[in-house]
Amino acid sequence: MEWVLLVRYGEIHLKGLNRPYFERALVDNIRRALGSLGGKITRGTGRMIVTGIGESDLSAACDRLSRVFGIHSISPAVAADKAWDNVVRHAAELMNKLVVDGQEHSFKVFARRSDKTYFINSEGIGRELGHEMLERFPSLHVDLHKPEIKLCVEIRDRAYIYCTEIPGSKGMPTGTAGRAALLLSGGIDSPVAGYMMAKRGLSLIAVHFYSYPYTSERARDKVVELTRLVSCYAGEIRLFLVPFTDIQMTIYEKCPPKETTILMRRLMMKIAERIAASEGAMALITGESLGQVASQTLESLVVTDNAVSMPVFRPLIGFDKEDITAMARNIGTFETSILPYEDCCTVFVPKHPVTKPVLSDLIASEASTDFSGMMDKAIADTELMVIG
Ligand code: ATP
Ligand code: MG
Repeated sequence: MEWVLLVRYGEIHLKGLNRPYFERALVDNIRRALGSLGGKITRGTGRMIVTGIGESDLSAACDRLSRVFGIHSISPAVAADKAWDNVVRHAAELMNKLVVDGQEHSFKVFARRSDKTYFINSEGIGRELGHEMLERFPSLHVDLHKPEIKLCVEIRDRAYIYCTEIPGSKGMPTGTAGRAALLLSGGIDSPVAGYMMAKRGLSLIAVHFYSYPYTSERARDKVVELTRLVSCYAGEIRLFLVPFTDIQMTIYEKCPPKETTILMRRLMMKIAERIAASEGAMALITGESLGQVASQTLESLVVTDNAVSMPVFRPLIGFDKEDITAMARNIGTFETSILPYEDCCTVFVPKHPVTKPVLSDLIASEASTDFSGMMDKAIADTELMVIG
């Protein structure tokens, strides 16, 4: 039996004249995700077909493709010559793998004929193939509403026969919407925020601020691992590790304690914006959610936004912590995010942070110290890692 992967895509369908652009990007992302598993990708209408993957690698390939944005679903299918006897034989072989001796199974045939010259129509294929299966497997019965086994047959250039459909990650192919810089902490929220924006087609760079020796080597490793986990969906991510200790200590020593967090957030945004611009990124992404902490009140977000001119995307703005946590579990970042290594924000957190910061006060505090030289130095000392 020759196995192939049928890859269906979702929203790309809605694209008009730009569709080939999105399809090409998806092909590239699929190829990258399959990597050493190889395979040849052919574009068909509304789907792609991957051939040349060995049977033993099929489930690994499906697993990888289930994380590629732009894919609606994936089916490992048997590809065969569409002569009727051949279709029946392959369907029976596939069915044979699914029926368990001594057990009753319900099934339904789902047939689709794209090749309109084929000698019977979809309805006929369903009926005839159903009969053939019932004759061969006495433990089967037909259930048109809730079948346990869905035997699917598509007649195209060849016949494709399959019984499983694995959900994809949906969204748009990463890279088709441009590039943005994710401010990545070691927490639960920012990896999810990066995932959500990559799902809308953005390619990501990540910027992380660390305050060695107040934050440890292990806290840094954790961020590298989180970047790797996000890159399983978002593709390659250039991770910028920015030394933030000097700036943080200066804020701590020279500025009003209640303003330290919000000042830190503004300076992080400014540095991230400069790194973003140098990388061709056009927006910033954070994991903020309205009202979650003092620095995420509406007033604080306004003051933070004022520090930069790039748009700031906050995909989690309307989500509860519980929902964000569920998403983090789903995409596989949660367990790493909760490793108990300190983040630079938590080390220097003030007792009574301002919840309604006044922009002019913050600008005055910022101007009272020469941060610009320190920001230049932080950027000059930034380390780059390419991940994924
Ligand atoms: P997270 O779970 O993402 O850490 P949080 O709820 O802890 O978020 P904050 O600590 O206020 O919230 O941070 C808000 C956002 O600021 C983060 O989601 C992230 O985008 C950014 N951020 C915070 N700390 C850092 C850091 N050390 N490096 C880079 N970005 C950071
Ligand atoms: Mg945090």
